[in-house]
Amino acid sequence: MTVHFHEEDLPAGVLAPGPIAVDTETMGLITPRDRLCVVQISDGQGDEHLVRFKPGSDYAAPNLRAVLADPERLKLYHFGRFDIAAIQHYLGVVAAPVYCTKIASRLIRTYTDRHGLKELVRELLGQDISKQQQSSDWGNPVLSDAQKDYAASDVRYLHALRAELDKRLVREGRMELAQACFDFLPHRAALDLAGWPEIDIFAHM
Ligand code: MN
Repeated sequence: MTVHFHEEDLPAGVLAPGPIAVDTETMGLITPRDRLCVVQISDGQGDEHLVRFKPGSDYAAPNLRAVLADPERLKLYHFGRFDIAAIQHYLGVVAAPVYCTKIASRLIRTYTDRHGLKELVRELLGQDISKQQQSSDWGNPVLSDAQKDYAASDVRYLHALRAELDKRLVREGRMELAQACFDFLPHRAALDLAGWPEIDIFAHM
């Protein structure tokens, strides 16, 4: 299990075929204001790849963009709505098709309102991950080992989580509903970027 650190792009050919887990770290929560600093990817084989972008980056990243835009590769996220918007805004690609462990959790773990990654990994996989570095300075020229470990851990468990969540979605007959929500997610992210971040256009009022 190794964390690989790259600057400005993913090297070609480092990922096994199949679904990839994807996460992003940014300067904050307002996508057009708070630049994309790190994209993390795991192919589920045990290694994680971190791609870091410098201030003023042109986000050319041809290898990373090709992988993210590949329609044959399912992208696994936790709260993909945010990551898809950041990737769309900075890298200019729609990183779909999508699976989101947070949406799956909301559809299946109706006995709790705790749908954070830490809680999900604890309950479904019996592992403990730290969220201590979540709000750290991802624009720092030198990322600490703790930051790198944290960034990698955010994609490390998504393949295993998907397997566990799928069992429960099938058991409760909600797979089709989940798939419809995953398919809508890039459009939800587009609404965020287009100026409807806080407004639920499905709500009556
Ligand atoms: Mn993260």
